[in-house]
Amino acid sequence: MKAIEQLIRKNIRDLEPYHSAREEYSGDARIFLDANENSLGSVSGDGFNRYPDPLQRALKKQLAAIKRTSTDRIFLGNGSDEAIDLLIRAFCEPARDQVMIMPPTYGMYKVAARVNDIEVLEVALDEQLNIDRDTIDSVIENHPSLKLIFICSPNNPTGHLFPARDVQYILQRFGGLVILDEAYIDFSPEPGWLPELSRYDHLVILQTLSKAWGMAGIRLGAAFAHPSIIAILNKIKPPYNINSITQRTASKALHKSDRFEWMVATLQHQKNELQASLKKLTMVEYIFPSEANFLLVRFRDPKQVYRTLIEAGIVVRDRSHLPRCERCLRITVGSRQQNERLIGILKAMDNDE
Ligand SMILES: *Cc1c(COP(=O)(O)O)cnc(C)c1O
Repeated sequence: MKAIEQLIRKNIRDLEPYHSAREEYSGDARIFLDANENSLGSVSGDGFNRYPDPLQRALKKQLAAIKRTSTDRIFLGNGSDEAIDLLIRAFCEPARDQVMIMPPTYGMYKVAARVNDIEVLEVALDEQLNIDRDTIDSVIENHPSLKLIFICSPNNPTGHLFPARDVQYILQRFGGLVILDEAYIDFSPEPGWLPELSRYDHLVILQTLSKAWGMAGIRLGAAFAHPSIIAILNKIKPPYNINSITQRTASKALHKSDRFEWMVATLQHQKNELQASLKKLTMVEYIFPSEANFLLVRFRDPKQVYRTLIEAGIVVRDRSHLPRCERCLRITVGSRQQNERLIGILKAMDNDE
């Protein structure tokens, strides 16, 4: 691969970053008069008058222990969406460079690239939802300005986990950064790529507290990568991108690994139950094997299913316009009661036909 110094945009490499007050002095002085905070406290009375730690050191320590990595390989973002945006802004020159995605996949890669005026090269997954190696090879060869390849595994919206040999193949062929989005990896029996991280200087792994940890509301995502990549993200991020409430709440959650494990196991069980019930319905044509907390389901008449569910107050995601997802709805695994209600409505529809 190319050195990170060669991949990064020149203006970012030359950038003199903003230094916040909390960054310049981080010891434990007793009187802080350096940041123009309110010295009397906060109106809410919760001690929010102080700016948060810009580098979230305590939280990263906790996460590093859980993920068995080091704190200098962790970047924390306001959701993984912030990491996606910063990676594009750090490495892709607007109106010149490209990123690659493999549809059907998560929509934010394309939106974040287009916002930054970056061209998006799309290499559709094959019929088996696997990576189309030959096309990827030729696209890499013909696009010297291709900087980032996004791989989502388990993939959203299919739930498909890409075999290690496919990810490895791209890591070996591509000299830019491989961004591996593992938002759903906790639902998979596979360990994901974090244990391999130190072997690849150009691998960036994205994870989030939004799914298995059940913390979508606090907005916390993580990028794991070589310290030189993390340093670049830290250099261009908004100084206080993770607020105090999020840092505190995330820290509390990360101590509750028992509850986390119970939730993951329960959702896995519920997914199997839901899958078994759906399979019995004649309206269902196909259920994609899923290693995530949702099922992509092909219906004979998805529009009618969607409408009937909406009328019953249940909303699912229509993915039928995406390649390989013809007539498909994506259904998030609910609680047992929620899934039973869903199945009840579908069964009634099935019987009417
Ligand atoms: C839900 C999801 C995320 C999470 O994004 P956050 O900004 O961390 O909430 C990331 N990637 C994929 C593929 C997702 O489905």
